[in-house]
Amino acid sequence: MIKTCKHCNVDFDTRSSAKRAAGGRINECPSCVEELGTETAVKYLGFSDDDATDIAIVSFQSNDARDNVSSAWKDASCDIS
Ligand SMILES: [Zn+2]
Repeated sequence: MIKTCKHCNVDFDTRSSAKRAAGGRINECPSCVEELGTETAVKYLGFSDDDATDIAIVSFQSNDARDNVSSAWKDASCDIS
């Protein structure tokens, strides 16, 4: 289902893998969910058998770490261009 993000007015697919991974509300695109931190880590805590759980929890528990990674990624992108 295509929805329009309430934050940035971008059309996104609510069933895309990016949206599923990011979580958040039905009317928030994946990038806004990650950027604004509207999703919590609660839904990941139930899957302790999943190898990916630790990664998911860490990435959502620490906003500082996530911002650092995001900044580093953006810096790297700037270097390329
Ligand atoms: Zn958005």
